[in-house]
Amino acid sequence: MSDYLVRAANTPALRSIIKSIGLPTPQTLARAEGGYAEKPLKGKTVLFSAAGYATAGKTVEKLLADTGAEVINGDGSALADDGRVHGLVLDVTGLSGPDDLKALYNFFHSTVRKLQTCGRIVVLTDVPESTASVAAATAARAVEGFVRSIGKEIGKKGSTANLIYVEKGAEDRIAGPLRFFLSAHSAYVDGQAARVTNAVQQSGSPALSNALKGKVALVTGGARGIGAATAGRLAAEGAHVVCLDIPADEETLNATVASIGGTALPLDITDPEAGRKIADFLKEKFGGVDVVVHNAGVTRDKTLANMKEQFWDMVLNINLASILRINEVLLGEKIVNKGGRVVCLSSIGGIAGNMGQTNYGATKAGLIGYVKAESENLADEGICINAVAPGFIETRMTAEIPFVIREAGRRLCSLSQGGQPIDVAELITFLSSPGAVGVTGQTIRVCGQNLVGA
Ligand code: NAD
Repeated sequence: MSDYLVRAANTPALRSIIKSIGLPTPQTLARAEGGYAEKPLKGKTVLFSAAGYATAGKTVEKLLADTGAEVINGDGSALADDGRVHGLVLDVTGLSGPDDLKALYNFFHSTVRKLQTCGRIVVLTDVPESTASVAAATAARAVEGFVRSIGKEIGKKGSTANLIYVEKGAEDRIAGPLRFFLSAHSAYVDGQAARVTNAVQQSGSPALSNALKGKVALVTGGARGIGAATAGRLAAEGAHVVCLDIPADEETLNATVASIGGTALPLDITDPEAGRKIADFLKEKFGGVDVVVHNAGVTRDKTLANMKEQFWDMVLNINLASILRINEVLLGEKIVNKGGRVVCLSSIGGIAGNMGQTNYGATKAGLIGYVKAESENLADEGICINAVAPGFIETRMTAEIPFVIREAGRRLCSLSQGGQPIDVAELITFLSSPGAVGVTGQTIRVCGQNLVGA
Protein backbone atom coordinates (compact mmCIF):
# COMPACT_ATOMS: atom_id res chain seq x y z
CA MET A 1 0.00 0.00 0.00
CA SER A 2 1.37 3.42 -0.81
CA ASP A 3 0.65 6.99 0.08
CA TYR A 4 -1.06 8.78 -2.84
CA LEU A 5 0.07 12.22 -1.61
CA VAL A 6 3.74 11.23 -1.53
CA ARG A 7 3.39 10.04 -5.13
CA ALA A 8 1.52 13.15 -6.23
CA ALA A 9 3.82 15.58 -4.39
CA ASN A 10 6.74 14.19 -6.29
CA THR A 11 5.07 14.61 -9.66
CA PRO A 12 6.06 18.11 -10.82
CA ALA A 13 2.72 18.81 -12.52
CA LEU A 14 0.72 17.95 -9.38
CA ARG A 15 3.09 19.39 -6.79
CA SER A 16 2.11 23.03 -7.31
CA ILE A 17 -1.62 22.18 -7.27
CA ILE A 18 -1.20 20.32 -3.98
CA LYS A 19 0.70 23.25 -2.50
CA SER A 20 -1.83 25.80 -3.69
CA ILE A 21 -4.72 24.02 -1.96
CA GLY A 22 -2.73 23.88 1.28
CA LEU A 23 -2.06 20.14 1.43
CA PRO A 24 1.31 18.96 2.75
CA THR A 25 3.87 17.99 0.11
CA PRO A 26 5.64 15.06 1.68
CA GLN A 27 9.21 14.30 0.67
CA THR A 28 9.87 10.83 -0.73
CA LEU A 29 12.10 9.32 1.93
CA ALA A 30 15.53 7.99 0.98
CA ARG A 31 15.37 4.36 2.08
CA ALA A 32 18.18 1.84 2.19
CA GLU A 33 18.29 -0.85 -0.42
CA GLY A 34 19.51 -4.22 0.82
CA GLY A 35 21.46 -5.07 3.94
CA TYR A 36 23.93 -3.22 6.14
CA ALA A 37 27.10 -1.93 4.52
CA GLU A 38 30.54 -1.73 6.16
CA LYS A 39 30.73 1.93 5.09
CA PRO A 40 27.10 3.12 5.01
CA LEU A 41 28.01 6.81 4.76
CA LYS A 42 30.60 6.51 2.03
CA GLY A 43 30.39 9.58 -0.20
CA LYS A 44 28.46 11.56 2.44
CA THR A 45 29.60 14.44 4.60
CA VAL A 46 28.95 14.76 8.32
CA LEU A 47 29.60 17.87 10.39
CA PHE A 48 30.68 16.87 13.87
CA SER A 49 31.27 18.86 16.99
CA ALA A 50 32.04 17.82 20.55
CA ALA A 51 31.31 20.45 23.18
CA GLY A 52 34.36 21.54 25.20
CA TYR A 53 33.20 19.41 28.14
CA ALA A 54 32.18 16.33 26.09
CA THR A 55 33.39 12.99 27.40
CA ALA A 56 32.64 10.75 24.39
CA GLY A 57 33.99 13.04 21.66
CA LYS A 58 37.05 11.03 20.61
CA THR A 59 35.05 7.77 20.48
CA VAL A 60 32.27 9.34 18.43
CA GLU A 61 34.69 10.94 16.01
CA LYS A 62 36.36 7.59 15.36
CA LEU A 63 33.01 5.82 14.95
CA LEU A 64 31.94 8.45 12.43
CA ALA A 65 35.12 7.96 10.44
CA ASP A 66 34.44 4.19 10.46
CA THR A 67 31.13 4.80 8.65
CA GLY A 68 33.05 5.99 5.60
CA ALA A 69 31.71 9.54 5.93
CA GLU A 70 33.83 12.56 5.28
CA VAL A 71 33.84 14.03 8.78
CA ILE A 72 34.28 17.78 9.11
CA ASN A 73 34.95 19.07 12.59
CA GLY A 74 33.29 22.28 13.69
CA ASP A 75 30.46 24.46 12.48
CA GLY A 76 30.90 23.97 8.75
CA SER A 77 32.11 27.53 8.15
CA ALA A 78 34.66 26.01 5.78
CA LEU A 79 31.85 24.81 3.51
CA ALA A 80 30.74 26.84 0.51
CA ASP A 81 27.61 28.95 1.14
CA ASP A 82 25.50 26.48 -0.81
CA GLY A 83 27.35 23.42 0.59
CA ARG A 84 25.05 20.78 2.04
CA VAL A 85 25.79 17.88 4.39
CA HIS A 86 24.10 14.56 5.11
CA GLY A 87 24.56 14.63 8.86
CA LEU A 88 24.95 16.96 11.84
CA VAL A 89 26.28 15.23 14.93
CA LEU A 90 26.82 16.94 18.27
CA ASP A 91 28.31 15.34 21.36
CA VAL A 92 27.12 16.96 24.58
CA THR A 93 28.00 14.12 26.93
CA GLY A 94 29.48 15.39 30.18
CA LEU A 95 27.35 18.52 30.51
CA SER A 96 27.15 19.81 34.06
CA GLY A 97 24.13 22.13 34.03
CA PRO A 98 21.77 24.32 31.99
CA ASP A 99 24.52 26.78 30.93
CA ASP A 100 26.19 23.99 28.98
CA LEU A 101 23.10 23.67 26.77
CA LYS A 102 24.29 26.72 24.83
CA ALA A 103 26.43 24.27 22.83
CA LEU A 104 23.18 23.11 21.15
CA TYR A 105 22.35 26.61 19.97
CA ASN A 106 25.91 27.40 18.95
CA PHE A 107 26.28 24.32 16.76
CA PHE A 108 22.85 23.95 15.20
CA HIS A 109 22.05 27.64 14.73
CA SER A 110 24.81 27.92 12.20
CA THR A 111 24.53 24.47 10.64
CA VAL A 112 20.88 23.42 10.43
CA ARG A 113 20.41 25.21 7.10
CA LYS A 114 23.24 23.16 5.66
CA LEU A 115 21.37 19.88 6.14
CA GLN A 116 20.43 18.31 2.84
CA THR A 117 17.10 16.66 2.02
CA CYS A 118 16.62 13.40 3.97
CA GLY A 119 19.51 14.42 6.20
CA ARG A 120 20.19 13.27 9.75
CA ILE A 121 20.69 14.99 13.08
CA VAL A 122 22.09 12.91 15.93
CA VAL A 123 22.86 14.28 19.39
CA LEU A 124 24.60 12.35 22.16
CA THR A 125 24.27 13.10 25.84
CA ASP A 126 24.40 11.39 29.24
CA VAL A 127 21.73 9.09 30.68
CA PRO A 128 20.19 11.62 33.11
CA GLU A 129 20.00 9.12 36.00
CA SER A 130 23.71 8.35 35.69
CA THR A 131 24.90 11.94 36.03
CA ALA A 132 26.62 13.29 39.14
CA SER A 133 24.27 16.15 40.03
CA VAL A 134 20.70 17.38 39.75
CA ALA A 135 21.85 20.18 37.44
CA ALA A 136 23.59 17.71 35.11
CA ALA A 137 20.55 15.40 35.06
CA THR A 138 18.33 18.37 34.24
CA ALA A 139 20.55 19.47 31.38
CA ALA A 140 20.85 15.96 29.95
CA ARG A 141 17.06 15.58 29.93
CA ALA A 142 16.69 19.02 28.33
CA VAL A 143 18.59 17.73 25.31
CA GLU A 144 15.68 15.39 24.53
CA GLY A 145 13.30 18.33 24.27
CA PHE A 146 15.72 20.07 21.94
CA VAL A 147 16.05 17.04 19.68
CA ARG A 148 12.31 16.41 19.49
CA SER A 149 11.74 20.07 18.63
CA ILE A 150 14.39 20.42 15.95
CA GLY A 151 13.03 17.19 14.45
CA LYS A 152 9.78 19.04 13.85
CA GLU A 153 11.64 21.83 12.08
CA ILE A 154 13.46 19.59 9.59
CA GLY A 155 10.83 16.89 8.96
CA LYS A 156 9.27 18.59 5.93
CA LYS A 157 12.43 17.86 3.99
CA GLY A 158 12.41 14.19 5.00
CA SER A 159 15.16 14.74 7.58
CA THR A 160 15.16 13.21 11.05
CA ALA A 161 16.60 14.05 14.48
CA ASN A 162 17.37 11.41 17.11
CA LEU A 163 19.12 11.29 20.46
CA ILE A 164 21.48 8.75 21.96
CA TYR A 165 21.72 8.73 25.75
CA VAL A 166 25.05 7.20 26.74
CA GLU A 167 25.67 5.61 30.12
CA LYS A 168 29.16 6.20 31.52
CA GLY A 169 31.40 3.31 30.51
CA ALA A 170 29.14 2.22 27.62
CA GLU A 171 30.80 4.41 24.99
CA ASP A 172 32.02 1.39 23.01
CA ARG A 173 28.36 0.48 22.42
CA ILE A 174 27.47 3.71 20.63
CA ALA A 175 28.45 2.36 17.18
CA GLY A 176 25.22 0.42 16.49
CA PRO A 177 22.68 3.17 17.23
CA LEU A 178 24.89 5.87 15.72
CA ARG A 179 25.21 4.02 12.41
CA PHE A 180 21.51 3.17 12.41
CA PHE A 181 20.29 6.70 13.07
CA LEU A 182 22.67 8.20 10.49
CA SER A 183 21.89 5.69 7.76
CA ALA A 184 19.02 5.30 5.30
CA HIS A 185 17.88 2.27 7.35
CA SER A 186 16.18 4.62 9.82
CA ALA A 187 14.18 6.68 7.30
CA TYR A 188 10.95 6.75 9.40
CA VAL A 189 12.51 6.70 12.90
CA ASP A 190 12.32 10.29 14.05
CA GLY A 191 12.35 12.19 17.34
CA GLN A 192 13.51 9.15 19.32
CA ALA A 193 15.84 8.73 22.27
CA ALA A 194 17.72 5.43 22.54
CA ARG A 195 19.64 4.60 25.69
CA VAL A 196 22.98 2.86 25.42
CA THR A 197 23.84 1.10 28.67
CA ASN A 198 26.00 -1.67 30.07
CA ALA A 199 22.99 -3.57 31.42
CA VAL A 200 23.41 -6.61 29.16
CA GLN A 201 26.56 -8.66 29.59
CA GLN A 202 27.88 -9.61 26.20
CA SER A 203 31.26 -9.31 24.64
CA GLY A 204 32.42 -9.32 21.04
CA SER A 205 32.41 -6.59 18.48
CA PRO A 206 29.23 -6.01 16.49
CA ALA A 207 29.17 -7.45 12.98
CA LEU A 208 28.37 -4.60 10.64
CA SER A 209 27.26 -6.29 7.44
CA ASN A 210 25.57 -9.68 7.18
CA ALA A 211 24.85 -8.98 10.84
CA LEU A 212 22.74 -12.09 11.44
CA LYS A 213 24.73 -14.66 9.47
CA GLY A 214 24.20 -18.12 10.97
CA LYS A 215 21.37 -16.96 13.24
CA VAL A 216 17.84 -18.33 13.41
CA ALA A 217 14.91 -15.94 13.77
CA LEU A 218 11.22 -16.48 14.51
CA VAL A 219 8.66 -13.92 13.30
CA THR A 220 5.05 -14.36 14.39
CA GLY A 221 2.39 -12.99 12.03
CA GLY A 222 5.08 -13.37 9.38
CA ALA A 223 2.81 -14.04 6.40
CA ARG A 224 2.20 -10.41 5.43
CA GLY A 225 2.52 -6.73 6.34
CA ILE A 226 5.17 -5.75 8.86
CA GLY A 227 5.90 -9.39 9.70
CA ALA A 228 6.70 -10.34 6.10
CA ALA A 229 8.85 -7.22 5.64
CA THR A 230 10.70 -8.08 8.86
CA ALA A 231 11.26 -11.66 7.77
CA GLY A 232 12.72 -10.38 4.48
CA ARG A 233 14.97 -7.89 6.20
CA LEU A 234 16.28 -10.42 8.75
CA ALA A 235 16.94 -12.87 5.91
CA ALA A 236 18.85 -10.15 4.03
CA GLU A 237 21.19 -9.94 7.05
CA GLY A 238 21.84 -13.67 6.75
CA ALA A 239 19.33 -15.13 9.25
CA HIS A 240 17.28 -18.23 8.57
CA VAL A 241 13.75 -17.06 9.32
CA VAL A 242 10.87 -19.15 10.63
CA CYS A 243 7.60 -17.38 9.80
CA LEU A 244 4.63 -18.31 11.94
CA ASP A 245 1.05 -17.43 11.03
CA ILE A 246 -2.45 -18.81 11.43
CA PRO A 247 -3.16 -22.07 9.54
CA ALA A 248 -5.97 -20.34 7.59
CA ASP A 249 -3.29 -18.12 6.00
CA GLU A 250 -0.98 -20.97 5.05
CA GLU A 251 -0.97 -20.10 1.36
CA THR A 252 0.24 -16.53 1.95
CA LEU A 253 2.64 -17.81 4.60
CA ASN A 254 4.18 -20.32 2.18
CA ALA A 255 4.57 -17.65 -0.50
CA THR A 256 6.37 -15.32 1.93
CA VAL A 257 8.63 -18.08 3.17
CA ALA A 258 9.45 -19.20 -0.37
CA SER A 259 10.50 -15.67 -1.29
CA ILE A 260 13.13 -15.54 1.48
CA GLY A 261 14.24 -19.16 1.71
CA GLY A 262 12.79 -19.52 5.21
CA THR A 263 10.61 -22.06 7.03
CA ALA A 264 6.86 -21.91 7.57
CA LEU A 265 5.22 -22.68 10.90
CA PRO A 266 1.41 -22.58 10.58
CA LEU A 267 0.13 -22.12 14.12
CA ASP A 268 -2.28 -19.94 16.05
CA ILE A 269 -0.42 -18.21 18.88
CA THR A 270 -3.51 -18.43 21.07
CA ASP A 271 -3.27 -22.23 21.04
CA PRO A 272 -2.68 -22.97 24.74
CA GLU A 273 0.16 -25.29 23.66
CA ALA A 274 1.70 -22.75 21.26
CA GLY A 275 4.79 -22.15 23.43
CA ARG A 276 5.45 -25.87 23.72
CA LYS A 277 4.90 -26.46 19.99
CA ILE A 278 7.16 -23.56 18.94
CA ALA A 279 9.88 -24.60 21.39
CA ASP A 280 9.86 -28.22 20.22
CA PHE A 281 9.91 -27.12 16.57
CA LEU A 282 12.84 -24.74 17.03
CA LYS A 283 14.80 -27.12 19.24
CA GLU A 284 14.37 -30.07 16.91
CA LYS A 285 15.06 -28.22 13.65
CA PHE A 286 17.64 -25.64 14.71
CA GLY A 287 18.71 -26.41 18.27
CA GLY A 288 17.27 -23.08 19.46
CA VAL A 289 16.57 -19.57 18.24
CA ASP A 290 18.52 -16.30 18.32
CA VAL A 291 15.90 -13.70 17.42
CA VAL A 292 12.21 -13.74 18.35
CA VAL A 293 9.90 -11.09 16.91
CA HIS A 294 6.42 -11.03 18.44
CA ASN A 295 4.65 -9.29 15.59
CA ALA A 296 1.25 -11.03 15.30
CA GLY A 297 -1.47 -8.66 16.39
CA VAL A 298 -5.04 -7.63 15.69
CA THR A 299 -7.41 -4.72 16.26
CA ARG A 300 -11.11 -4.98 17.08
CA ASP A 301 -12.02 -1.32 17.61
CA LYS A 302 -15.18 -0.10 19.36
CA THR A 303 -15.78 2.37 22.16
CA LEU A 304 -15.75 0.46 25.42
CA ALA A 305 -19.49 0.79 25.96
CA ASN A 306 -20.11 -0.83 22.57
CA MET A 307 -17.34 -3.42 22.70
CA LYS A 308 -18.37 -7.06 22.79
CA GLU A 309 -16.69 -9.04 25.51
CA GLN A 310 -15.41 -11.53 22.93
CA PHE A 311 -13.41 -8.75 21.22
CA TRP A 312 -11.93 -7.58 24.50
CA ASP A 313 -10.85 -11.15 25.27
CA MET A 314 -9.57 -11.83 21.75
CA VAL A 315 -7.35 -8.76 21.49
CA LEU A 316 -5.97 -9.20 25.01
CA ASN A 317 -5.18 -12.82 24.26
CA ILE A 318 -3.52 -12.42 20.83
CA ASN A 319 -1.64 -9.17 21.47
CA LEU A 320 -0.48 -9.71 25.03
CA ALA A 321 -1.27 -12.90 26.96
CA SER A 322 -0.04 -15.24 24.18
CA ILE A 323 3.28 -13.43 24.00
CA LEU A 324 3.93 -13.87 27.71
CA ARG A 325 2.82 -17.52 27.56
CA ILE A 326 5.10 -18.28 24.60
CA ASN A 327 8.06 -16.45 26.10
CA GLU A 328 7.63 -18.32 29.35
CA VAL A 329 8.59 -21.47 27.48
CA LEU A 330 11.12 -20.01 25.03
CA LEU A 331 12.97 -18.02 27.67
CA GLY A 332 12.26 -20.27 30.64
CA GLU A 333 13.63 -23.34 28.86
CA LYS A 334 16.49 -21.35 27.29
CA ILE A 335 15.33 -22.08 23.74
CA VAL A 336 16.42 -18.48 23.05
CA ASN A 337 20.18 -18.72 22.79
CA LYS A 338 22.60 -16.64 24.86
CA GLY A 339 23.13 -13.25 23.24
CA GLY A 340 19.63 -13.48 21.75
CA ARG A 341 17.21 -10.70 20.91
CA VAL A 342 13.48 -10.42 21.54
CA VAL A 343 11.40 -7.67 19.95
CA CYS A 344 7.70 -7.04 20.68
CA LEU A 345 5.40 -4.97 18.48
CA SER A 346 3.81 -2.26 20.57
CA SER A 347 2.13 0.81 19.04
CA ILE A 348 1.89 4.55 19.53
CA GLY A 349 -1.71 3.70 20.50
CA GLY A 350 -0.20 2.02 23.54
CA ILE A 351 1.68 5.20 24.43
CA ALA A 352 -1.07 7.76 23.87
CA GLY A 353 -4.25 5.71 23.95
CA ASN A 354 -6.75 5.88 21.10
CA MET A 355 -10.51 6.38 20.96
CA GLY A 356 -12.12 2.98 20.38
CA GLN A 357 -8.99 1.07 21.29
CA THR A 358 -9.23 0.38 25.01
CA ASN A 359 -8.48 -3.29 24.30
CA TYR A 360 -5.66 -2.65 21.81
CA GLY A 361 -4.16 0.25 23.79
CA ALA A 362 -4.03 -1.86 26.94
CA THR A 363 -2.16 -4.66 25.17
CA LYS A 364 0.34 -2.40 23.46
CA ALA A 365 1.05 -0.48 26.67
CA GLY A 366 1.35 -3.79 28.49
CA LEU A 367 4.17 -4.77 26.15
CA ILE A 368 6.07 -1.59 27.01
CA GLY A 369 5.90 -2.58 30.67
CA TYR A 370 6.70 -6.19 29.84
CA VAL A 371 9.97 -5.54 27.99
CA LYS A 372 11.12 -3.18 30.74
CA ALA A 373 10.43 -5.70 33.51
CA GLU A 374 11.71 -8.74 31.59
CA SER A 375 14.92 -7.03 30.44
CA GLU A 376 16.36 -7.25 33.94
CA ASN A 377 15.79 -11.02 34.08
CA LEU A 378 17.52 -11.58 30.74
CA ALA A 379 20.56 -9.35 31.10
CA ASP A 380 22.82 -12.07 32.49
CA GLU A 381 22.05 -14.28 29.47
CA GLY A 382 23.18 -11.49 27.17
CA ILE A 383 19.62 -11.23 25.82
CA CYS A 384 18.18 -7.83 24.89
CA ILE A 385 14.41 -7.39 24.83
CA ASN A 386 12.79 -4.27 23.42
CA ALA A 387 9.54 -2.99 21.98
CA VAL A 388 8.96 -1.19 18.73
CA ALA A 389 6.03 1.22 18.57
CA PRO A 390 4.93 1.90 14.98
CA GLY A 391 2.85 4.92 14.12
CA PHE A 392 0.75 4.91 10.97
CA ILE A 393 2.12 2.20 8.69
CA GLU A 394 0.60 1.39 5.28
CA THR A 395 -0.69 -2.16 5.80
CA ARG A 396 -3.91 -4.13 5.68
CA MET A 397 -4.53 -3.10 9.31
CA THR A 398 -4.52 0.63 8.53
CA ALA A 399 -6.27 0.23 5.17
CA GLU A 400 -9.35 -0.70 7.22
CA ILE A 401 -9.42 2.69 9.05
CA PRO A 402 -12.11 5.15 7.77
CA PHE A 403 -10.66 7.66 5.25
CA VAL A 404 -10.75 10.84 7.35
CA ILE A 405 -9.15 9.22 10.39
CA ARG A 406 -6.67 7.47 8.10
CA GLU A 407 -5.63 10.80 6.55
CA ALA A 408 -5.15 12.36 9.99
CA GLY A 409 -3.07 9.37 11.09
CA ARG A 410 -0.87 9.67 8.02
CA ARG A 411 -0.28 13.43 8.02
CA LEU A 412 0.03 14.32 11.70
CA CYS A 413 3.70 13.58 11.87
CA SER A 414 6.88 15.52 11.14
CA LEU A 415 7.44 13.62 7.88
CA SER A 416 3.78 14.22 6.75
CA GLN A 417 3.30 10.66 5.54
CA GLY A 418 2.62 7.12 6.62
CA GLY A 419 5.47 4.68 6.96
CA GLN A 420 6.01 1.48 5.01
CA PRO A 421 6.30 -2.01 6.55
CA ILE A 422 10.00 -1.95 5.65
CA ASP A 423 10.51 1.04 7.97
CA VAL A 424 9.33 -1.00 10.95
CA ALA A 425 11.32 -3.99 9.71
CA GLU A 426 14.46 -1.84 9.71
CA LEU A 427 14.07 -0.85 13.36
CA ILE A 428 13.29 -4.45 14.35
CA THR A 429 16.36 -5.64 12.44
CA PHE A 430 18.57 -3.10 14.15
CA LEU A 431 17.27 -4.20 17.57
CA SER A 432 17.88 -7.83 16.54
CA SER A 433 21.48 -7.18 15.57
CA PRO A 434 24.67 -7.53 17.63
CA GLY A 435 25.12 -3.75 17.31
CA ALA A 436 22.10 -3.17 19.58
CA VAL A 437 23.78 -4.79 22.60
CA GLY A 438 23.53 -1.55 24.60
CA VAL A 439 19.80 -1.21 24.05
CA THR A 440 17.42 -3.20 26.24
CA GLY A 441 14.11 -2.75 28.06
CA GLN A 442 13.23 0.16 25.79
CA THR A 443 10.42 1.15 23.48
CA ILE A 444 11.43 2.97 20.33
CA ARG A 445 8.86 4.47 18.02
CA VAL A 446 8.91 4.24 14.26
CA CYS A 447 6.33 6.83 13.44
CA GLY A 448 7.89 9.74 11.52
CA GLN A 449 7.50 11.64 14.81
CA ASN A 450 3.73 11.27 14.91
CA LEU A 451 1.94 13.77 17.15
CA VAL A 452 0.03 10.93 18.85
CA GLY A 453 1.76 10.29 22.15
CA ALA A 454 4.65 12.56 21.25
P1 NAD B 1 -1.44 -7.34 9.49
O1 NAD B 1 -2.87 -7.56 9.84
O2 NAD B 1 -1.09 -6.92 8.11
O3 NAD B 1 -0.60 -8.66 9.85
C1 NAD B 1 -0.71 -9.30 11.11
C2 NAD B 1 -0.40 -10.79 10.93
O4 NAD B 1 -0.59 -11.41 12.20
C3 NAD B 1 -1.36 -11.46 9.93
O5 NAD B 1 -0.65 -12.19 8.96
C4 NAD B 1 -2.23 -12.34 10.82
O6 NAD B 1 -2.69 -13.51 10.17
C5 NAD B 1 -1.26 -12.66 11.97
N1 NAD B 1 -1.99 -13.09 13.16
C6 NAD B 1 -3.08 -12.51 13.70
N2 NAD B 1 -3.53 -13.26 14.74
C7 NAD B 1 -2.71 -14.33 14.83
C8 NAD B 1 -2.67 -15.47 15.67
N3 NAD B 1 -3.58 -15.66 16.63
N4 NAD B 1 -1.69 -16.38 15.50
C9 NAD B 1 -0.77 -16.21 14.52
N5 NAD B 1 -0.76 -15.16 13.69
C10 NAD B 1 -1.72 -14.24 13.83
O7 NAD B 1 -0.88 -6.30 10.59
P2 NAD B 1 0.37 -5.29 10.53
O8 NAD B 1 -0.15 -3.96 10.22
O9 NAD B 1 1.48 -5.87 9.70
O10 NAD B 1 0.77 -5.28 12.08
C11 NAD B 1 1.80 -6.08 12.63
C12 NAD B 1 2.00 -5.67 14.08
O11 NAD B 1 2.34 -4.29 14.16
C13 NAD B 1 0.77 -5.86 14.95
O12 NAD B 1 1.14 -6.34 16.22
C14 NAD B 1 0.20 -4.47 15.04
O13 NAD B 1 -0.58 -4.28 16.21
C15 NAD B 1 1.46 -3.63 15.04
N6 NAD B 1 1.22 -2.25 14.61
C16 NAD B 1 0.84 -1.96 13.34
C17 NAD B 1 0.62 -0.64 12.97
C18 NAD B 1 0.23 -0.24 11.56
O14 NAD B 1 0.07 0.96 11.32
N7 NAD B 1 0.06 -1.16 10.63
C19 NAD B 1 0.76 0.38 13.90
C20 NAD B 1 1.13 0.05 15.20
C21 NAD B 1 1.37 -1.26 15.54
